Amino acid sequence: MVERVVILGGGESGTGAALLAKVKGFDVFVSDLGSLKDKHKNDLLQHSIEFEEGQHSEDKILNANLVIKSPGISDKVDIVKKIKSKKIAIIDEIEFAFRYLKGKIIAITGTNGKTTTTLLTYHLLKNAEKKVALAGNVGESLARKVATEEHDWYVLELSSFQLDGTQTFHPHIGVLLNITPDHLDRYEKKMTNYINSKFRLVKNMGSKDYFIYYADDPISGPEAKQRSTEAYRVEISLDHEAITSAHFDGKKMVFQFGKKSFKIAQSDTTLKGAHNLINTMAAVSAAYLAKVADTKIREGLKTFKNAPHRLESIATINGIEFVNDSKATNVDSVVYALGSYDRPLIWIAGGIDKGNDYNLIKVAVEKKVKTLICLGKDNEKLKKFFGKAVPKIVETQSVRELVQLALQSAEKGDVVLLSPACASFDLFKNYEDRGDQFREAVLQAKMEIEKVKA
Ligand code: ADP
Repeated sequence: MVERVVILGGGESGTGAALLAKVKGFDVFVSDLGSLKDKHKNDLLQHSIEFEEGQHSEDKILNANLVIKSPGISDKVDIVKKIKSKKIAIIDEIEFAFRYLKGKIIAITGTNGKTTTTLLTYHLLKNAEKKVALAGNVGESLARKVATEEHDWYVLELSSFQLDGTQTFHPHIGVLLNITPDHLDRYEKKMTNYINSKFRLVKNMGSKDYFIYYADDPISGPEAKQRSTEAYRVEISLDHEAITSAHFDGKKMVFQFGKKSFKIAQSDTTLKGAHNLINTMAAVSAAYLAKVADTKIREGLKTFKNAPHRLESIATINGIEFVNDSKATNVDSVVYALGSYDRPLIWIAGGIDKGNDYNLIKVAVEKKVKTLICLGKDNEKLKKFFGKAVPKIVETQSVRELVQLALQSAEKGDVVLLSPACASFDLFKNYEDRGDQFREAVLQAKMEIEKVKA
């Protein structure tokens, strides 16, 4: 009898899992409590995969041999509890895809920097003409890639939610960038649970594998050193004197793998800031260990274009540079953003504060920020905290006005930095919407000013 695979959640990972299960000959059913996007519905219809929306029909789910759950669905929800009480095997999409995958995996996780590092690693392998796929949290799901294409390498961005559902998953190269408190609601507010989740990355790694991590991170660094793993440890450090596989000596990134060593200056890459030194050292190490020659790595670093909303330089108006870092929704990200510029800053922040401790950036703000523009519905916390630290604080809820305020406050050579430290849902759909509106308003202002000049 054909085994029945039921998939909970019909987003990108659920649909990918359904396609893969179908290719592998299972009887497949997708169930989503919400509604499906047209793209995913079309995929399922095209492959004659049965699905339901707006409900979980128990009679169609609890007869499964295997359930594949989307990473967004918590173990605590009713249907998952019922599946477990019936002793039906339940795994996540990544684990399912892994069982059919033939190439090698470079898996990248951490609280911050995942997307940048994943995209850069992928770019470095692609530029070296490796047969490589990009999957996971960025772009398409791993299961979809495995169902439809064959590759030698898979560069995967993994969230802790995705790692939670892994069992035999085993990357050849695992990268752990950092761990800061985030998503703790999913982990019973216990940091240890969140840390354990991230360390599932290395659980099945063996002596031929590589575990790359940022050694200076106050949480994940010591944990990575302490926890036992058979994988070869590749440490990254910003400490100028560190004796690690990769470190920053104050001028250049220095790499040392066995007898091979090479140096790369950040000015020879397209990324800015200390945080991107970490991301670059991680990506370069991963690419090198995936046998990309250092000459090819250098070439790739010069042509990389990061995803938008991450210290994205939009335009320069009257000598004032406008930067969109809308993705910085927590204060840790802002630490790095502020550290990326030596010039005076007009800093735009605000939105929904998820419990920020602004002490982390107080000194940098005092030193660099001329004007703070609050872009949120409720700006009291920001105003109170930075009232004395910043010479001028203004507020607005309009992105157009924001750009005008910034232009009024800034002088030639300054940087206007949208790095909000907060979520965007009070005024925007999401951080992308906030960044897109900002970019549009900046480009509009630039056009108007150039028109007047002409
Ligand atoms: P993620 O995919 O983990 O959310 P991104 O690469 O999209 O990470 O970067 C998100 C934000 O996090 C960036 O805008 C930047 O402000 C900050 N960031 C990037 N890399 C790091 C890092 N290594 N450490 C701390 N913060 C970082």
